[in-house]
Amino acid sequence: MLSLQHDILRTDISGMPLEWISYQGAVRLYYLEQVAYSCGHLLYRIHGGYNAATGRRSVIDVNSIIATDGSVQASLKGRPGYTPPLNNATLFRRDGFLCMYCGGHQRQSNLSRDHVRPMSRGGDDAWNNVVTACKHCNSHKGNRAPEQAGMQLLAVPFTPTHAEYVYLQGRRILADQMEFLRAHFPRRSPLRERLKSSSYASAARFLS
Ligand SMILES: [Zn+2]
Repeated sequence: MLSLQHDILRTDISGMPLEWISYQGAVRLYYLEQVAYSCGHLLYRIHGGYNAATGRRSVIDVNSIIATDGSVQASLKGRPGYTPPLNNATLFRRDGFLCMYCGGHQRQSNLSRDHVRPMSRGGDDAWNNVVTACKHCNSHKGNRAPEQAGMQLLAVPFTPTHAEYVYLQGRRILADQMEFLRAHFPRRSPLRERLKSSSYASAARFLS
């Protein structure tokens, strides 16, 4: 039997990825009849209570991807100018948990958010000015721009679209969910290249 560890990818009515929800959250949406249609494969079959009158037991099938009636807020996130909130956990995942200066693969506790152009020099605390850096490189760089510190960036920082952001927040992403999300990435998404490399590929290995 499947354990209930996989999240369900929720989309709006047009199929735009919105967020991850637990199976409980999905069951609630099914009960509230807010699920417009399902995609992906059958992930969980949830048995409910027995109906006192008929003696029949209710069953809800939860698929890996469900489309729900959209909200205004959701459609705003799909717009080209939308910027997802910046946080370290998602930033580190964007950069594959690699220090963008020395290329070292580090555990999260040894990583930090580096402002490529330091904030004290007018740099923004924004996706396109921040990279993942190990604490060693970050303190070596100090309050300088990379060229002043004799350091070179391994990849250009970018602002994820909402679909990319949803992907970066995912845990134990299933193959069909991965495929669905990737179809919503911009054609030139840097994540497409990164997904081909081995460390990212493991995220999509959970076939049911
Ligand atoms: Zn480093």
